[in-house]
Amino acid sequence: MPVYKAPLRDMKFLLNEVFDYPEHYASLASGENATPDIVEAILRECGKFCEEVLSPLYLSGDEEGCKLENGEVTTPTGYREAYQQYVSGGWQGLSAPADFGGQGLPASMGLLKQEMMGTANWSFSMYPGLSLGAMNTIFLHGSDDQQQTYLPPLTEGHWGGTMCLTEPQCGTDLGQVKTRAEPQPDGSYRLTGTKIFISSGDHDLTENIVHIVLARLPDAPKGTRGISLFIVPKFLPDSQGCVGERNTVVCGNLEKKMGIKASATCVMNFDGATGFLIGPENEGLNCMFTFMNTARIGTAIQGVGPAELSYQWALAYAKERRSMRALSGKKEPDQVADSLIHHADVRRMLLTQKAIAEGGRAMLYYAARLADHMVEGLTQGDDKKAGKYDDKLGFLTPILKGFLTELGYEAANLGVQVFGGHGYIREHGMEQIVRDTRIATLYEGTTGIQALDLLGRKVLLMTRGGAVREFTLKIANFARKHLTDKRLRPFALELLKLTGQWNLLTVRIMLAARKDRDVVSSAAYDFLMYSGYVTMAYIWVRQAAAAVDKLDHGGDESEAFYQAKLATTEFYFERLLPRAQSHASSMLSSSKNLMQLDAEDLAFTG
Ligand SMILES: Cc1cc2nc3c(=O)[nH]c(=O)nc-3n(C[C@H](O)[C@H](O)[C@H](O)COP(=O)(O)OP(=O)(O)OC[C@H]3O[C@@H](n4cnc5c(N)ncnc54)[C@H](O)[C@@H]3O)c2cc1C
Repeated sequence: MPVYKAPLRDMKFLLNEVFDYPEHYASLASGENATPDIVEAILRECGKFCEEVLSPLYLSGDEEGCKLENGEVTTPTGYREAYQQYVSGGWQGLSAPADFGGQGLPASMGLLKQEMMGTANWSFSMYPGLSLGAMNTIFLHGSDDQQQTYLPPLTEGHWGGTMCLTEPQCGTDLGQVKTRAEPQPDGSYRLTGTKIFISSGDHDLTENIVHIVLARLPDAPKGTRGISLFIVPKFLPDSQGCVGERNTVVCGNLEKKMGIKASATCVMNFDGATGFLIGPENEGLNCMFTFMNTARIGTAIQGVGPAELSYQWALAYAKERRSMRALSGKKEPDQVADSLIHHADVRRMLLTQKAIAEGGRAMLYYAARLADHMVEGLTQGDDKKAGKYDDKLGFLTPILKGFLTELGYEAANLGVQVFGGHGYIREHGMEQIVRDTRIATLYEGTTGIQALDLLGRKVLLMTRGGAVREFTLKIANFARKHLTDKRLRPFALELLKLTGQWNLLTVRIMLAARKDRDVVSSAAYDFLMYSGYVTMAYIWVRQAAAAVDKLDHGGDESEAFYQAKLATTEFYFERLLPRAQSHASSMLSSSKNLMQLDAEDLAFTG
C-alpha cells in the first residue's frame, strides 16, 4: 500500500535557507518559542503522526466513507482513534492563543502542520480544519463569555466546529441566505432553516460541535447587509461549560459525493435551534470574512498536497515499472526493459508534478510570513499593522487559492497518467487523489470567484492597479540583484520582462473595462492564471537564488539537492511558464467571443 513521506528536507530548505524563518520568528511576539530546534522537532513529530497514523487511513477511509444512522454520523474505522491521538498530541492548539489553552505559536506553524496532515489525509484534516475556522471567528468576534465557554474545549480539540454558510439556493451569493433567527426574551435566538454541504456538520470525533451559522434577523435589510452570525452548539453548554441539553440542530442527510468521502458533508436542519449572536447585528459576513485570507491559504494547501502525494507515488512507480527502451539507448541492459523514469515524456509529467508541489509549497511559505504579521496585528489590537498585511495577503490569496488548486488538480491527473491503466484502478490510490482534490477549486470560493476577487476587487476597484505595481516592484528589485550571476541571469531577465507585461496587461484591461463591464469577468480567469504563473516563477527564482548561494558558500543540504532546485527552476521556466503567454493573449481578447450568442442559441437540440 502506498504511504506518504513528509517532505521535511524541502520544508527545512524553504524555512531556513529561502525565507529565513528563524529571523522572522525572532521578530514576532508569538515566535519566542519557535526557535529552529523547536520548529524542527515539531515538524518531525507532526510528520511522524501523518506518516504513521493518518496516511494508513487514506484509502480505507475512502472505501468505507461516513455513515448516517438515527441522525448521528459515524466516521470510518480508525478515525476516532487517530483523532484521539491528534488531541493528546496537543495539535489543535498549536497556533492558538495560550490564554485559551493553546501553545501560542505563530500562525504559519499551523499552516505547516496543515500541509502535512492535508497531504497525508485531506478528509481527516478537514475535521480539525473546520474547527479552526470556528475558533478564529469566536476569538475575534465573540464576547468574553463566549470565548471562555467555547475556546478552551475547541482549542483542546474535545469540541469540533463548523462554518454553516451555504443553503440550497446559494453558495457564492450569500446575500440570498434565508435561515431565520428570532430573538428570545432571554437574549438568545431561535434559528430555523436548512444549510447544505456542511463539512463536519455531524460526526463522532468530538463530544460537542459548535456551528457558526449565517442567518437573518426578522427586520434585517435584504442582501448581504442583513446577515448576522450565530453560535449554535449541538449540545448547549451547561452552567459549568460542560455538554448539556441536546439542541435542535440535526444532520438530515449525508451528501454522496465524488471524493473526500471520509469527510462528512452534511445537510443540517435547524429547527428552532438555540443560538447566540456573535459580533454586531447584520455584520455577519464581515465577521465571517475576517480570517478569510488565512482560511483561503488553508484551501490553497489542497493544491500543494495532492501534487506532492501524487508525485511521491508516481515517482516510486516510474522507478519500478518497466516499459520498452529509452530512445537514447538501453539504460538498464540487464533488465527486460528500462523503467518508466528513463522516458522523456514520463519525466515531463513527473517534473510538472514536482514543479507544482515544490513551487506551490514555496508560495505558501512566502504568504505564511505575511499571515503571521497579519495575525500578530489582530491579536495585539494593532489595526494598522493588521490592515497593511491583510492587504498584502489579500492580493496573494486569490492567486494562491485559485491557481494552486487548479494546478494541484492537473498534477493529480498526471499522477494517474504515469500509472497508465493502473492509475484508473482504485487500489493504487491515484484516482482517489484526483477525486479528492477536485473539490478544492470549488469550495472557499470557486476559481471564477477568486479570479473576480483578484481582478475586479483587489486590482481594479480597490487599488487601480496599485496592488500589481507594488508586487511587481518587489519582484523587479529582486531580479535586478541577480542579473550578474550567469546561473540566475536568464531567469532574472525573464522576470523583469514579465513584471513589465503584468502591469501593461492590467492597464489594458482597466481601459477596456471602462468601455465594456463584461471585460472584468471575461478576463478574470486568465488574469488569475497569468498572475499565478508569474508569481510561481518569482518564487522558483527565490529558491534558485538560495540554491546558488548555498552551492557557493555551503548549506544544510547536499549539492545534488541544490542542483535539483536549479534544474527544476529551468524546467519551470522553459516548460510551464510559457503558458502565461497563452493566458495573456486570451485575457486581451474581446468579451464579444463569450457574450455574442443569445442564451437560447448556445445549443440547438431536439
Ligand atoms: C464537499 C463540499 C464541502 C463544502 N463545505 C462547506 C462548508 O463547510 N460550509 C459551507 O457553508 N459551504 C460548504 N460548501 C459549499 C461551497 O462553499 C459552495 O458549493 C461554493 O461556494 C460554490 O457555491 P455554489 O455551489 O452555490 O455554486 P454557485 O454559486 O451556484 O456557482 C456556480 C458556478 O457559477 C459561477 N459563478 C457564480 N456567480 C458568479 C458570478 N457573479 N460571476 C461569475 N461566475 C459566477 C461559479 O464560479 C461556479 O462556477 C461545500 C461544498 C462541497 C461540495
